[in-house]
Amino acid sequence: MVQPAPRAHIGIGDTTVTYLPDGHGWLNPAVLFPASSPDGWATHAEFLNAEGRFPVSIGSFLIRTAGRVILVDLGLGAVDFAVPDVATFKGGELLNALAAEGLTPDDVDTVVYTHLHHDHVGWTSDLAPAPNAPAGQTVTGLTFKGARHLVSEAEWRHWSGTAELVGPDPIAVQTPLADRIAFVADGEEIAPGVRILSTPGHTPGHSSLLVTDPAGGDNRRLVILGDVMHCQVQVTESHWTFAFDFDPDQSIATRERLLKELEDGNTILAGGHFAGSVFGQVLPPAARRAWAGMLSVG
Ligand SMILES: [Zn+2]
Repeated sequence: MVQPAPRAHIGIGDTTVTYLPDGHGWLNPAVLFPASSPDGWATHAEFLNAEGRFPVSIGSFLIRTAGRVILVDLGLGAVDFAVPDVATFKGGELLNALAAEGLTPDDVDTVVYTHLHHDHVGWTSDLAPAPNAPAGQTVTGLTFKGARHLVSEAEWRHWSGTAELVGPDPIAVQTPLADRIAFVADGEEIAPGVRILSTPGHTPGHSSLLVTDPAGGDNRRLVILGDVMHCQVQVTESHWTFAFDFDPDQSIATRERLLKELEDGNTILAGGHFAGSVFGQVLPPAARRAWAGMLSVG
Protein backbone atom coordinates (compact mmCIF):
# COMPACT_ATOMS: atom_id res chain seq x y z
CA MET A 1 0.00 0.00 0.00
CA VAL A 2 1.39 3.41 -0.92
CA GLN A 3 2.03 6.11 1.70
CA PRO A 4 2.08 9.92 1.48
CA ALA A 5 5.12 11.03 -0.54
CA PRO A 6 8.47 12.01 1.02
CA ARG A 7 10.64 15.00 0.12
CA ALA A 8 12.06 14.49 -3.38
CA HIS A 9 13.55 16.57 -6.17
CA ILE A 10 13.93 16.71 -9.93
CA GLY A 11 16.50 18.73 -11.87
CA ILE A 12 15.64 20.45 -15.16
CA GLY A 13 18.93 21.95 -16.33
CA ASP A 14 20.17 24.04 -13.38
CA THR A 15 16.61 24.46 -12.07
CA THR A 16 15.51 22.18 -9.25
CA VAL A 17 11.93 21.38 -8.29
CA THR A 18 11.62 19.87 -4.81
CA TYR A 19 8.52 18.45 -3.17
CA LEU A 20 8.29 19.68 0.44
CA PRO A 21 5.81 17.69 2.53
CA ASP A 22 3.58 19.55 4.97
CA GLY A 23 1.35 16.62 5.90
CA HIS A 24 -1.21 14.27 4.49
CA GLY A 25 -4.84 13.27 4.25
CA TRP A 26 -6.62 9.91 4.25
CA LEU A 27 -9.72 10.14 2.11
CA ASN A 28 -12.90 8.11 1.63
CA PRO A 29 -12.83 7.19 -2.08
CA ALA A 30 -16.57 6.60 -2.41
CA VAL A 31 -17.29 10.13 -1.17
CA LEU A 32 -14.47 11.99 -2.92
CA PHE A 33 -14.43 10.09 -6.22
CA PRO A 34 -18.15 9.28 -6.66
CA ALA A 35 -17.57 7.82 -10.12
CA SER A 36 -15.22 5.22 -8.62
CA SER A 37 -18.02 3.38 -6.80
CA PRO A 38 -18.75 0.58 -6.41
CA ASP A 39 -15.75 -1.32 -7.79
CA GLY A 40 -13.60 1.19 -9.67
CA TRP A 41 -10.71 0.63 -7.27
CA ALA A 42 -10.54 -3.09 -7.95
CA THR A 43 -7.54 -2.64 -10.24
CA HIS A 44 -5.99 0.09 -8.04
CA ALA A 45 -6.13 -1.65 -4.66
CA GLU A 46 -2.52 -0.74 -3.82
CA PHE A 47 -3.74 2.82 -3.18
CA LEU A 48 -6.19 1.83 -0.41
CA ASN A 49 -5.39 1.06 3.22
CA ALA A 50 -7.07 -1.60 5.36
CA GLU A 51 -9.95 0.77 6.08
CA GLY A 52 -10.47 1.40 2.38
CA ARG A 53 -9.11 4.97 2.42
CA PHE A 54 -6.55 6.41 0.02
CA PRO A 55 -3.68 8.70 1.04
CA VAL A 56 -2.98 12.13 -0.41
CA SER A 57 0.29 13.98 0.02
CA ILE A 58 -0.09 17.64 1.00
CA GLY A 59 2.71 20.17 0.72
CA SER A 60 4.55 22.63 -1.51
CA PHE A 61 6.84 22.57 -4.49
CA LEU A 62 10.04 24.56 -4.11
CA ILE A 63 11.48 25.88 -7.39
CA ARG A 64 15.05 27.19 -7.35
CA THR A 65 16.24 28.81 -10.55
CA ALA A 66 18.55 31.70 -11.45
CA GLY A 67 18.89 32.78 -7.82
CA ARG A 68 15.15 32.72 -7.28
CA VAL A 69 13.34 30.81 -4.50
CA ILE A 70 9.69 30.09 -5.29
CA LEU A 71 7.08 28.13 -3.34
CA VAL A 72 4.09 26.72 -5.19
CA ASP A 73 1.21 26.35 -2.69
CA LEU A 74 1.48 26.44 1.10
CA GLY A 75 0.03 23.18 2.42
CA LEU A 76 -2.42 22.81 5.29
CA GLY A 77 -0.60 24.70 8.03
CA ALA A 78 -0.56 23.56 11.65
CA VAL A 79 -3.88 21.74 11.66
CA ASP A 80 -5.03 18.24 12.57
CA PHE A 81 -8.69 17.45 12.04
CA ALA A 82 -11.21 14.94 10.77
CA VAL A 83 -14.33 15.33 8.68
CA PRO A 84 -16.37 12.31 9.81
CA ASP A 85 -16.84 9.66 7.09
CA VAL A 86 -14.98 11.85 4.57
CA ALA A 87 -11.32 12.38 5.48
CA THR A 88 -8.66 13.08 8.08
CA PHE A 89 -6.07 15.83 7.58
CA LYS A 90 -2.81 16.63 9.34
CA GLY A 91 -0.26 19.32 8.45
CA GLY A 92 2.50 21.31 10.08
CA GLU A 93 5.81 20.12 8.61
CA LEU A 94 6.38 22.60 5.79
CA LEU A 95 8.86 24.89 7.54
CA ASN A 96 10.84 21.87 8.73
CA ALA A 97 10.97 20.57 5.16
CA LEU A 98 12.11 24.00 3.99
CA ALA A 99 14.81 24.08 6.69
CA ALA A 100 16.01 20.67 5.50
CA GLU A 101 16.74 22.40 2.17
CA GLY A 102 18.81 25.01 4.04
CA LEU A 103 16.19 27.73 3.67
CA THR A 104 14.22 29.98 6.00
CA PRO A 105 10.92 31.70 5.19
CA ASP A 106 12.83 34.95 4.56
CA ASP A 107 14.68 33.29 1.67
CA VAL A 108 11.45 32.79 -0.30
CA ASP A 109 10.94 35.56 -2.89
CA THR A 110 7.72 34.30 -4.50
CA VAL A 111 4.67 32.35 -3.36
CA VAL A 112 2.35 31.25 -6.14
CA TYR A 113 -0.95 29.50 -5.46
CA THR A 114 -2.40 27.02 -7.95
CA HIS A 115 -5.73 27.69 -6.24
CA LEU A 116 -7.06 28.71 -2.84
CA HIS A 117 -8.48 25.53 -1.32
CA HIS A 118 -7.62 25.16 2.37
CA ASP A 119 -4.96 22.51 1.73
CA HIS A 120 -2.97 24.91 -0.49
CA VAL A 121 -2.93 28.08 1.63
CA GLY A 122 -2.29 26.87 5.19
CA TRP A 123 1.02 28.61 5.85
CA THR A 124 -0.04 31.97 4.40
CA SER A 125 0.06 33.73 7.79
CA ASP A 126 1.39 32.91 11.24
CA LEU A 127 -2.10 31.91 12.42
CA ALA A 128 -3.19 28.31 11.93
CA PRO A 129 -6.31 28.31 9.77
CA ALA A 130 -9.62 26.84 10.94
CA PRO A 131 -10.52 24.51 12.49
CA ASN A 132 -7.39 24.64 14.66
CA ALA A 133 -6.97 28.40 14.96
CA PRO A 134 -6.40 29.16 18.66
CA ALA A 135 -9.30 31.18 20.09
CA GLY A 136 -8.53 34.86 20.44
CA GLN A 137 -5.20 34.70 18.62
CA THR A 138 -4.67 37.18 15.82
CA VAL A 139 -2.51 37.32 12.72
CA THR A 140 0.72 39.24 13.18
CA GLY A 141 2.02 38.79 9.64
CA LEU A 142 2.57 36.65 6.60
CA THR A 143 4.83 33.60 7.02
CA PHE A 144 6.82 34.55 3.90
CA LYS A 145 7.10 38.24 4.66
CA GLY A 146 9.35 39.30 1.81
CA ALA A 147 7.68 37.28 -0.92
CA ARG A 148 5.40 38.32 -3.73
CA HIS A 149 2.14 36.37 -3.40
CA LEU A 150 0.59 35.43 -6.75
CA VAL A 151 -2.68 33.85 -7.89
CA SER A 152 -5.01 34.20 -10.85
CA GLU A 153 -7.52 37.02 -10.59
CA ALA A 154 -10.47 34.67 -11.22
CA GLU A 155 -9.38 32.52 -8.28
CA TRP A 156 -9.00 35.44 -5.91
CA ARG A 157 -12.38 36.93 -6.86
CA HIS A 158 -14.13 33.56 -6.55
CA TRP A 159 -13.23 33.15 -2.86
CA SER A 160 -13.22 36.78 -1.71
CA GLY A 161 -15.63 37.25 1.16
CA THR A 162 -16.43 33.55 1.47
CA ALA A 163 -16.01 31.45 4.61
CA GLU A 164 -16.23 27.84 3.44
CA LEU A 165 -14.28 25.06 5.12
CA VAL A 166 -12.75 24.03 1.78
CA GLY A 167 -11.71 27.60 0.91
CA PRO A 168 -9.17 30.10 2.28
CA ASP A 169 -9.84 30.97 5.92
CA PRO A 170 -11.03 34.62 6.06
CA ILE A 171 -8.96 35.54 9.13
CA ALA A 172 -5.81 33.48 8.62
CA VAL A 173 -5.60 33.80 4.82
CA GLN A 174 -7.89 36.25 3.00
CA THR A 175 -7.45 39.32 5.19
CA PRO A 176 -3.64 39.15 5.58
CA LEU A 177 -3.28 38.63 1.82
CA ALA A 178 -5.72 41.33 0.75
CA ASP A 179 -3.19 44.15 0.32
CA ARG A 180 -0.37 41.85 -0.85
CA ILE A 181 -1.90 39.57 -3.47
CA ALA A 182 -0.92 40.14 -7.10
CA PHE A 183 -2.52 38.58 -10.13
CA VAL A 184 -0.97 36.38 -12.80
CA ALA A 185 -2.36 35.35 -16.16
CA ASP A 186 -2.13 32.33 -18.45
CA GLY A 187 1.29 32.13 -20.09
CA GLU A 188 2.92 34.67 -17.78
CA GLU A 189 6.57 34.01 -16.91
CA ILE A 190 7.00 34.54 -13.15
CA ALA A 191 10.72 33.59 -13.10
CA PRO A 192 13.15 32.45 -15.79
CA GLY A 193 11.65 29.28 -17.26
CA VAL A 194 8.63 29.23 -14.92
CA ARG A 195 5.24 29.95 -16.53
CA ILE A 196 1.59 29.96 -15.52
CA LEU A 197 -0.74 27.49 -17.29
CA SER A 198 -4.43 28.18 -16.89
CA THR A 199 -6.16 24.87 -15.96
CA PRO A 200 -9.67 25.74 -14.72
CA GLY A 201 -12.27 23.23 -13.59
CA HIS A 202 -11.30 22.10 -10.10
CA THR A 203 -11.71 25.78 -9.20
CA PRO A 204 -12.64 28.68 -11.52
CA GLY A 205 -9.18 30.22 -11.55
CA HIS A 206 -7.04 27.13 -11.13
CA SER A 207 -3.49 27.32 -12.52
CA SER A 208 -0.70 24.83 -13.12
CA LEU A 209 2.97 25.72 -13.65
CA LEU A 210 5.29 24.84 -16.51
CA VAL A 211 9.02 24.63 -15.69
CA THR A 212 11.66 24.58 -18.42
CA ASP A 213 15.42 25.12 -18.49
CA PRO A 214 15.94 28.87 -19.10
CA ALA A 215 19.39 28.09 -20.56
CA GLY A 216 17.81 25.72 -23.08
CA GLY A 217 20.32 22.91 -22.53
CA ASP A 218 17.76 20.48 -21.12
CA ASN A 219 14.82 20.00 -23.43
CA ARG A 220 12.62 18.24 -20.89
CA ARG A 221 9.80 20.11 -19.19
CA LEU A 222 8.02 19.68 -15.88
CA VAL A 223 4.40 20.52 -15.12
CA ILE A 224 3.22 21.14 -11.55
CA LEU A 225 -0.38 20.01 -11.86
CA GLY A 226 -2.00 21.56 -8.82
CA ASP A 227 -5.30 19.72 -8.40
CA VAL A 228 -5.87 18.80 -12.05
CA MET A 229 -5.44 15.32 -10.54
CA HIS A 230 -5.63 14.23 -6.90
CA CYS A 231 -4.38 10.70 -7.37
CA GLN A 232 -2.31 9.07 -10.10
CA VAL A 233 -5.20 6.65 -10.62
CA GLN A 234 -6.80 9.55 -12.54
CA VAL A 235 -4.10 9.21 -15.20
CA THR A 236 -5.97 6.04 -16.14
CA GLU A 237 -9.42 6.91 -14.80
CA SER A 238 -9.46 10.45 -16.19
CA HIS A 239 -13.28 10.61 -15.99
CA TRP A 240 -13.21 10.40 -12.17
CA THR A 241 -14.12 13.84 -10.91
CA PHE A 242 -13.29 14.97 -7.38
CA ALA A 243 -16.17 15.81 -5.05
CA PHE A 244 -14.93 19.39 -4.64
CA ASP A 245 -14.48 20.10 -8.36
CA PHE A 246 -16.26 23.40 -9.01
CA ASP A 247 -17.08 22.47 -12.61
CA PRO A 248 -16.76 18.69 -13.01
CA ASP A 249 -17.17 18.70 -16.81
CA GLN A 250 -14.52 21.39 -17.20
CA SER A 251 -12.19 19.52 -14.83
CA ILE A 252 -12.46 16.39 -17.02
CA ALA A 253 -11.85 18.43 -20.19
CA THR A 254 -8.80 20.14 -18.65
CA ARG A 255 -7.40 16.82 -17.40
CA GLU A 256 -7.90 15.13 -20.78
CA ARG A 257 -6.30 18.05 -22.62
CA LEU A 258 -3.26 18.05 -20.34
CA LEU A 259 -2.83 14.27 -20.41
CA LYS A 260 -2.81 14.27 -24.21
CA GLU A 261 -0.27 17.08 -24.27
CA LEU A 262 1.96 15.54 -21.62
CA GLU A 263 2.26 11.92 -22.76
CA ASP A 264 5.18 12.89 -25.01
CA GLY A 265 7.91 11.09 -23.03
CA ASN A 266 9.60 14.43 -22.51
CA THR A 267 7.44 15.83 -19.73
CA ILE A 268 7.65 15.15 -16.01
CA LEU A 269 4.47 15.60 -14.03
CA ALA A 270 4.43 16.77 -10.44
CA GLY A 271 1.21 15.84 -8.66
CA GLY A 272 1.24 17.44 -5.21
CA HIS A 273 -1.42 15.09 -3.87
CA PHE A 274 0.01 11.92 -5.39
CA ALA A 275 0.98 9.22 -2.91
CA GLY A 276 4.24 7.30 -3.05
CA SER A 277 5.98 9.55 -5.58
CA VAL A 278 4.78 12.99 -6.60
CA PHE A 279 6.95 12.95 -9.74
CA GLY A 280 6.40 10.73 -12.74
CA GLN A 281 5.56 10.48 -16.40
CA VAL A 282 2.47 9.60 -18.36
CA LEU A 283 2.90 6.55 -20.53
CA PRO A 284 0.91 6.82 -23.76
CA PRO A 285 -2.03 4.45 -24.10
CA ALA A 286 -1.06 0.91 -25.05
CA ALA A 287 -3.93 -1.01 -23.53
CA ARG A 288 -4.74 2.00 -21.42
CA ARG A 289 -2.95 5.15 -20.27
CA ALA A 290 -0.75 4.52 -17.21
CA TRP A 291 1.49 6.20 -14.65
CA ALA A 292 5.23 5.63 -14.15
CA GLY A 293 6.49 7.09 -10.85
CA MET A 294 10.02 8.46 -10.46
CA LEU A 295 12.38 8.84 -7.53
CA SER A 296 14.63 11.89 -7.15
CA VAL A 297 16.59 12.63 -10.30
CA GLY A 298 19.42 15.06 -10.94
ZN1 LIG B 1 -5.78 20.11 -2.94
